[in-house]
Amino acid sequence: MKEKGDAPLHAETVAVHAGRAIDPATGAVMAPIHLSTTFERAEDGTFPSGFNYSRSNNPNRAALEKALALLEGGAVAAAFASGVAAAAAIFQTLSPNDHVIAPTEAYHGILRLLRGIFGRWQLAVDFVDMTDLAAIQNAIQPKTKLIWVETPSNPTLKLTDLAAVAEIAHAAGARLACDNTWSPIIQRPFSLGADFVMHSTTKYFGGHSDVLGGAIIARDDDEFFQRIREVQTIGGAIPAPFDCWLIHRGTQTLPWRIRAHSENAQRVAEFLAQHPKVERVHYPGLTSHPQYELARRQMNPFGGMLSFELRGDRAAALRLPNELKIFTRATSLGGVESLIEHRQSIEGPETKTPETLLRLSIGLEHPDDLIADLARALT
Ligand code: PLP
Repeated sequence: MKEKGDAPLHAETVAVHAGRAIDPATGAVMAPIHLSTTFERAEDGTFPSGFNYSRSNNPNRAALEKALALLEGGAVAAAFASGVAAAAAIFQTLSPNDHVIAPTEAYHGILRLLRGIFGRWQLAVDFVDMTDLAAIQNAIQPKTKLIWVETPSNPTLKLTDLAAVAEIAHAAGARLACDNTWSPIIQRPFSLGADFVMHSTTKYFGGHSDVLGGAIIARDDDEFFQRIREVQTIGGAIPAPFDCWLIHRGTQTLPWRIRAHSENAQRVAEFLAQHPKVERVHYPGLTSHPQYELARRQMNPFGGMLSFELRGDRAAALRLPNELKIFTRATSLGGVESLIEHRQSIEGPETKTPETLLRLSIGLEHPDDLIADLARALT
């Protein structure tokens, strides 16, 4: 694509072309799906194609990883069977008694992974309010190896100041990993100092709620990343070729979709913020968001996810989704269809989510129709 000395390409152009080449065997413009699990050796015993067994590598996975690294602005990427598998791979590179600082509020599956599975492996984890830089600094220990952040956070869209936390991590000799699942393209963690970016590619990359996947993208192809690669290929939590193909296809339209998701979410957030039956709206694109200035510094635009707290009780919050005709009651996010979820009831006993909170994944329907649907349900 880009030659040395050319101006940097825009995300839209990178997304369409990254990891793509005309198939030399057939001239196919779109990549074939390579289902073969094994690849022929040359007479001298080498693998001239670079592929030998599909757990170690596969042409569809290699193409997807190249696209992910280019789009996120990293050096290299490793694709996994799910977002949680990708997160687990980073934690698996650490040793017992290594110390991790993680957020009090984040995707509950990753918090459960850290508390449950990696707790049993003696990984030491402190959970900290990531909006409080002094608290992060105070949590640093000589054995701190990793700070894990998710911004905006799930489900109340609190922001982490990535540049400031990167500084704290690096001063302590630790690395910063950012779960960027909610803000692909619109938030650039590497430019703010992060060492690793994690994505659940199930969400905006896939974009159509029909494939699971995850990825770690690293700023440097260094020894730490090689350990992640080892976890990927020896541990084997790899995505199937068809899944890689689907996520790679979704990636081609990602910059345009995330912009439209964001525009729709901004409209819906503004509507909800003025509604008398709504107590509070959590969306970084609202000037009322307590970290709006930070949002403007590190996000542009503000993404397709928001949540709101209804005036009333838990029963009212559980009832409202039943009144909607366009939104679907379902978990997950990042697809073309709008989803609504009563978050507390899915997060398990350790949840701190308010009982009247509803989370919205804003899709690509017309925003007037989404607003009309909400307006009707809220009457
Ligand atoms: N990180 C965030 C922010 C998420 O929202 C999710 C899923 O909802 C995950 C990670 C986990 O991804 P997956 O379901 O692909 O394992």
